[in-house]
Amino acid sequence: MKKLYGVIGDPIGHSMSPDMHNDAFQSLSMDAHYHAFQIEKKDLEAAVLGMKAIGISGFNVTVPHKTAIMPLLDEVDPLAQAIGAVNTVVLDNGRFIGYNTDGEGFLAGLEVEYDGNVLDKRILLLGAGGSARAIYYTLSQKGAMHIDIGNRTLEKAEELKKRCPYPVKTSLLTLDEAAEKLADYDIIIQTTSIGMSPNVEAMPISLDNLHPDAFVADIIYNPIETAFMKEAKARGAKSQNGAKMLSFQGALAFEKWTGILPEPSRMETIIYNKLGGIKC
Ligand code: NAP
Repeated sequence: MKKLYGVIGDPIGHSMSPDMHNDAFQSLSMDAHYHAFQIEKKDLEAAVLGMKAIGISGFNVTVPHKTAIMPLLDEVDPLAQAIGAVNTVVLDNGRFIGYNTDGEGFLAGLEVEYDGNVLDKRILLLGAGGSARAIYYTLSQKGAMHIDIGNRTLEKAEELKKRCPYPVKTSLLTLDEAAEKLADYDIIIQTTSIGMSPNVEAMPISLDNLHPDAFVADIIYNPIETAFMKEAKARGAKSQNGAKMLSFQGALAFEKWTGILPEPSRMETIIYNKLGGIKC
């Protein structure tokens, strides 16, 4: 019987996940379908019960349900628990188990393009929102040695550091301090929403002090190349956008459901096609 997978969120029409996963099922000749379900906040509990009743094999969770779904699941994996958000649910022997593949997806996508061991480098994380939390906790859990956090609101960065259950050396910086100290870092991870379409000229910090050997990972994928990435490249640094994180988080979710890691580059191509751009 055809297996059913999906994503729940509100809004959900913009999601690229159905195209990414249905292409993977097709290319692997698997008899399965992935569907986008628009679920309002008030209907979340009923939706989770309904999905169990119809026997869905697994699903993704996106805004605004990533945290609210946690108490409705039978089990939440410790990393997702620490992050405080679930983006992937697996049906295992009749039980729904929640995971978070955002941080692991980011790391896997970075490792494809970064020449060296990410975890022993000096890392600057810009931003302290939901995606910064997933990346900071995942990198710390995997053994990162040093991650400083720069954010507009220092209290949020403090909160991130305070609640991190994994050991990692971290200093907290204002955005101005981060710009001042920029030459100290090997990898800069940009997770703020600054530079996202339509404000494509905006940058979170000046790159005047960027080391030319540094690697800049911006998790924004629309535009395909942010002003921050362009400036980093102009200064001789390497950069990547958020399409790698998006494709790898999807590929890792697919692997949790099926035991098969699909080709992340196929998912990335679908993202570029949807965005109407070429890979940079
Ligand atoms: P979020 O939780 O709302 O966090 C937003 C972050 O941006 C906070 O650190 C916030 O600082 C900062 N910020 C926003 N406006 C600012 C401004 N005008 N000046 C200075 N700082 C500002 O958002 P999120 O969910 O983490 O998403 C952030 C970005 O990541 C979005 O562009 C999103 O599209 C992208 N994203 C990409 C992927 C992927 O797979 N590639 C996945 C998730 C998200 P304060 O703490 O001071 O408010």
